[in-house]
Amino acid sequence: MEVAVVEGLMQDYELSLQHVLWRIERLHQKKEVVTKRDEGIHRTTYGEMVPRINRLAGALKRLGVKPGDRVATLAWNTSRHLELYYAVPCMGAVLHTLNLRLFPQHLEFIVNDAEDKVLFVDQSLLPLLKPLAGKIPSIKTMVLIGDGAPAAMAGKDNGIADMLDYETLLAAESENYPWPKLSERMAAAMCYTSGTTGNPKGVVYSHRSQFIHTMGVLQGDSLGLTEKDALLPVVPMFHANSWGLPYAAGMAGTKVVFAGRFSADAKSIVEMAEQEEVTFLAGVPTVWIGLAAYLKESGKRLPKVRTVVCGGSAIPRSLMETMDGLGLRMLHAWGMTETSPLGSVARVPAGSDPDEELRLRLTQGRVGAGVEIRITDPVSGEELPWDGTAFGEIQVRGPWIARGYHNGYDPGKLTEDGWFRTGDVAKIDADGYIQIVDRTKDVIKSGGEWISSVELENAVMAHPKIVEAAVIGLPHPKWDERPVVYAVAKPEFKGQVTQEEVIEFLKDKVAKWWLPDEVRFIDEVPKTSVGKFDKKVLRASAVPISEGATQAVLATSSTSSGTTRSSPRSRSTLVTWCTSTPRR
Ligand code: AMP
Repeated sequence: MEVAVVEGLMQDYELSLQHVLWRIERLHQKKEVVTKRDEGIHRTTYGEMVPRINRLAGALKRLGVKPGDRVATLAWNTSRHLELYYAVPCMGAVLHTLNLRLFPQHLEFIVNDAEDKVLFVDQSLLPLLKPLAGKIPSIKTMVLIGDGAPAAMAGKDNGIADMLDYETLLAAESENYPWPKLSERMAAAMCYTSGTTGNPKGVVYSHRSQFIHTMGVLQGDSLGLTEKDALLPVVPMFHANSWGLPYAAGMAGTKVVFAGRFSADAKSIVEMAEQEEVTFLAGVPTVWIGLAAYLKESGKRLPKVRTVVCGGSAIPRSLMETMDGLGLRMLHAWGMTETSPLGSVARVPAGSDPDEELRLRLTQGRVGAGVEIRITDPVSGEELPWDGTAFGEIQVRGPWIARGYHNGYDPGKLTEDGWFRTGDVAKIDADGYIQIVDRTKDVIKSGGEWISSVELENAVMAHPKIVEAAVIGLPHPKWDERPVVYAVAKPEFKGQVTQEEVIEFLKDKVAKWWLPDEVRFIDEVPKTSVGKFDKKVLRASAVPISEGATQAVLATSSTSSGTTRSSPRSRSTLVTWCTSTPRR
């Protein structure tokens, strides 16, 4: 007998970013948006921004922007950039945030791949576009975002397109834009991956995915931003939509504080946080390493800050302990551009003792409500157990996880049964806590065994004289690869820390055969465009391991026991990966 399907009787309300716009207009008018500009602090409110967002949408329409057209931004974290975050998707176009730290050839590739039509650029970033003159024909109009008076270059053609002034453009439009009815499946925004392996790939977020991701970010056991907070997103607005924080802030009614082009400067961050009574910060570990050093040196503290979200790379234990000592509680989160980006958050369950608490806060946490996760064997594709030992590639699925890239690149990123392959290798314990072991391309294989570059880096960064360390595997005639550490000494210990000292320090912390062959001291670890250690730069310029380097360690230890071991099954798995994953 056929069973009749009974449909729910709830409304088909489209999940779109227009809802967030509605909330800032109707509920959060008085909430401030503060920006550090060259000439000083600029203050506005959501209430003052809404008419400007309407005007901006009118201007876009006048410029010929149609639903689905890509509108690019090359801009710092500012209130004007936030206006674009609302106006572009809410009028049906697609906000494409360009990473201002990319090389010109990457920018050229990305703009052409996305076929951006209009480009909004902060005046101070105009020089970045010089090499692109004549190379990005899809751009028909450029809009200069100046700081106050009409941008000096407005009205001129810079070899790309006619340049218009942002404020002049807005002034000519109406405060009431007839927002169109949008489908939740429409594209709202796009971001490109950072392109560490090959060309960057376009990730396209829908209104629906952004809406649900925003709700996910706001859950108490997720990032848990509230109306009572004041948010300073140090993470750039071009990095995975600023981790979804601008929309989360709009939805909740959170005050927002932007550091403009001063985001990389710890002193400016601290000053803004003090003056604006910031409670919530977000950024990658390197930002917090700089901030902690500045706080120690200046003696300043930020007692109002209740949460420092940290993602993008694993948090070194030394950093979390330092920040705890400064009264700043870090909240570890994992994700990627393709996961909108929030994947998991390290909240600690009730009743954990302090040691357990620190251990769990250092993991990548548990997958957020709304997303499912699994780890799989790369060869058989079989799902691996959550036993805290077996490790495999993280795969995820859910309403804010990519199912493909713009223009169809890399279709293999999705498994046959519809899970997204992240390329991150992790183990998961019985309670669901994820521990990332490495990126598949960074794992070091040595004598048929594997070494986690991430764990070794963390162990080195716990050395009291070292501030940063990146570990790469370099070719070795006997062992295939051996780890080499690139370390940066704290300024007060520059020239005073030796390789022997570091290796001695590691001896009771990692397995003997994990001990690095060499520790090379450098002034700074090269960083990617989003502030992560750029190991491909280190690999490209690395001199070979010197003959006889630390071989005494290996001679006694090819299979010796140590504090860090992998299961036999996981070892062979990783070796297969290492051999099959190209390094660039
Ligand atoms: P992106 O798309 O630039 O945000 O880079 C995403 C990648 O950054 C992930 O696939 C991870 O390899 C890495 N990543 C992000 N968050 C973390 C974290 N908390 N711990 C370790 N790696 C992370």
